[in-house]
Amino acid sequence: MNAKKLGRVLEFYQDLGFTSLYRRTPGETASMDGPSSETVPVHTEPALIELPGLAPADDSLPRIREDIGDCRRCRLHEGRHTIVFGSGNEHARLVFVGEGPGADEDAQGLPFVGRAGQLLTQMIEGTAKREGIPLERKDVYICNVVKCRPPENRTPEPDEMEICGQFLFRQLSVIHPGAICALGATAARALLGRKEGVTRLRGNWYKWRDIPLMVTYHPSYLLRPYNQNAKREAWEDLKKVLHFVYD
Ligand code: URA
Repeated sequence: MNAKKLGRVLEFYQDLGFTSLYRRTPGETASMDGPSSETVPVHTEPALIELPGLAPADDSLPRIREDIGDCRRCRLHEGRHTIVFGSGNEHARLVFVGEGPGADEDAQGLPFVGRAGQLLTQMIEGTAKREGIPLERKDVYICNVVKCRPPENRTPEPDEMEICGQFLFRQLSVIHPGAICALGATAARALLGRKEGVTRLRGNWYKWRDIPLMVTYHPSYLLRPYNQNAKREAWEDLKKVLHFVYD
């Protein structure tokens, strides 16, 4: 890659909010076992950075999964069983972004398959049905900010979100849906860089790059019995998103 092209790629990532990039060592492939990360500042001499693995012009979901490889770029790999990449329609008009895999997702390798996932499926399919929109879960795409289960389901740390965020951003860029629904504060923070709570952010439209984005409550939060009001609000948010995308 020449310096001009490399400069454009670096600008692209800077626009996305990245301040550092990992670099594969020469000859290393995505599926190698050893640690594969080395953090270098964005402004390091460009010729030293091997970037094609980050955002190739012909990027695709399989390519991104291949680049993730048997990832050991952050500490989350230590406790995971499976990398949970994402699932659904790769041409989806709507993408849901959660926080990170839980125990069920880690075991099955699929996002939102536990209790929170069942609620998410009900929310998507139930709302669509009530609103007369022919939509099933398989028609949307679902993924998370981090692809490995954080220990004890703790919130991902900022460095984990940044390292894994590059893959989320590539997924969103490739799918380029008509809208994104950020589930919970971690997804909102990763995609909007906003630290406010969901109560404050929910129900309004924002943008991730050029894509309209709605923040709503994470389904795990809605599973708590005392959050009935939030449940009603989440349904309202989803209704808005579905009509925006599918009307
Ligand atoms: N919670 C998430 O944020 N993501 C999942 O995939 C499951 C539960």
